[in-house]
Amino acid sequence: MGRIKDTKYIFVTGGVTSSLGKGIISASLAKLLQARGYTVTIQKLDPYINIDPGTLNPYEHGECYVTEDGAETDLDLGHYERFLNIRTSQANNVTTGRIYKSVIEKERKGEYLGDTVQVIPHITDEIKQSIKLLGEKNQYDFVLTEIGGTVGDIESLPYVEAIRQLKYEMGKNCLVIHLTLVPYLAAAKELKTKPTQHSVKTMLEYGVQPDILVCRTEKHLNQSIKDKIALFCNIDNSSVIESLDTNSIYNVPLLMQKEELDRVVLKKINLDFREVPDLSEWKTFLHRLENPKKNIKIGLIGKYGELIDSYKSIIESLIHAGTVNDCKIDLKLIQSEQINKKNISDKLKDLSGILVAPGFGNRGIDGKILTANYARSNKIPFFGVCLGMQCAVIEFARNVLNLKDAHSTEMNTETPYPVIDIMEEQKKITMKGGTMRLGSYPCDIKPQSKVFSIYKQKQILERHRHRYEFNNSYLDDFENHGMKASGINPDANLVEIIELNNHPWFIGVQFHPEYKSTVAKPHPLFVKFVEASLKYKQKTL
Ligand code: GLN
Repeated sequence: MGRIKDTKYIFVTGGVTSSLGKGIISASLAKLLQARGYTVTIQKLDPYINIDPGTLNPYEHGECYVTEDGAETDLDLGHYERFLNIRTSQANNVTTGRIYKSVIEKERKGEYLGDTVQVIPHITDEIKQSIKLLGEKNQYDFVLTEIGGTVGDIESLPYVEAIRQLKYEMGKNCLVIHLTLVPYLAAAKELKTKPTQHSVKTMLEYGVQPDILVCRTEKHLNQSIKDKIALFCNIDNSSVIESLDTNSIYNVPLLMQKEELDRVVLKKINLDFREVPDLSEWKTFLHRLENPKKNIKIGLIGKYGELIDSYKSIIESLIHAGTVNDCKIDLKLIQSEQINKKNISDKLKDLSGILVAPGFGNRGIDGKILTANYARSNKIPFFGVCLGMQCAVIEFARNVLNLKDAHSTEMNTETPYPVIDIMEEQKKITMKGGTMRLGSYPCDIKPQSKVFSIYKQKQILERHRHRYEFNNSYLDDFENHGMKASGINPDANLVEIIELNNHPWFIGVQFHPEYKSTVAKPHPLFVKFVEASLKYKQKTL
């Protein structure tokens, strides 16, 4: 299908509260447009002053998602890639920090000589430029831009102003979708529209009339409520869309299709409906997800315990992999700090598979190392991701190679056996932001290894985010004792994958495979890890 004449810009803003699922609504609409044959990309604009979320605590902001080109980005980009099976890049996530940095650099270069540099027009122009940048390459029919935060926040103001200007400039090529909450008051047994009305009024004060309202709700919105919202918010009643709570984010594209969000968008923007979206693969995935034939318990051992947003991509990858295996994953999130020698078997005994999570710093590290030991000695399928792999290496060094107090120099600079050490190119780096080994790197897979039978490829590309690496001076010792380096970076000779010979499934990867798992292409390492865990469960029943 050919490209349409002008790129269309759709903005998604949020009102009333945060956490309404703007990222999922944006990804779902993009999915429906993509399924109708349109080319789509999505971008997230974050109103905070950090240059990127790489320096943010996952406690507050969830996981940091890494793109192919090495950008540290908001976790919503993970949803975009998982839903759409597209690749995003730095251009898909812009923060206020990045906008200001660029404007200040231009000012210092003298690009605004004579001007007083101000929020309007300089900051808003920069915002507009980073929105239009994605459309300029003429690659996409639609650029969806999700604005982080909630309308009414001081920090969101320049973004709403940029939208106002773009709407004025682009007319029909531009559309604003506002996501709000319609709360249900149990005592009154009523859905309340007032917060939505106020949120739209705030938008109007800033000069933006939303074209479509998506109303998040726990109860069905009947026509009279929709009519009321439409009347008070100046919106056609067909453009008031219900977004009912659902138990899986993967259900949302179908709910939005039922509500005709994509048709309303296309109608408003004067475009052809083209064919009915082909969502057959998506529906098959959802059917398998909702009708599992088996179930297993998998442990995710990390520093943050129950904070699911900190491990978003890993959890979604496990869901994808469970679906391929027609298996429901009962995920047990365990805070590694809580694990000690005495309680470890109690905490881990009912698990059929163990995944040790990525992470930074010393907190909870001992629990992770003990966990690697437990999985190795009890022959439980083990998957170590980034720091998880490093913990498996440290454990093997201490308990099999007898290198007492072996450690990573990240945790102990004085260790006598630095089996994990800082990378050569990292030694001189002092700045913390955006300076890790980031983004996609090639990795050669050794034939006859377990990972070769999984990837079925001689060379793979995976994304990285770390400063430390396997110390090659110990490699022979490790290999002679059964821990093999089965994946190597061809350019730098870095060990990227380790696996155990005499274990059913024990794999550690220095990279982050979770960033590449999508609904259309679940990641083979996760798929096979779940398969191995199922086998383990059957054997131990
Ligand atoms: N902290 C480790 C390193 O920097 C691992 C990082 C990670 O797990 N993403 O090498």
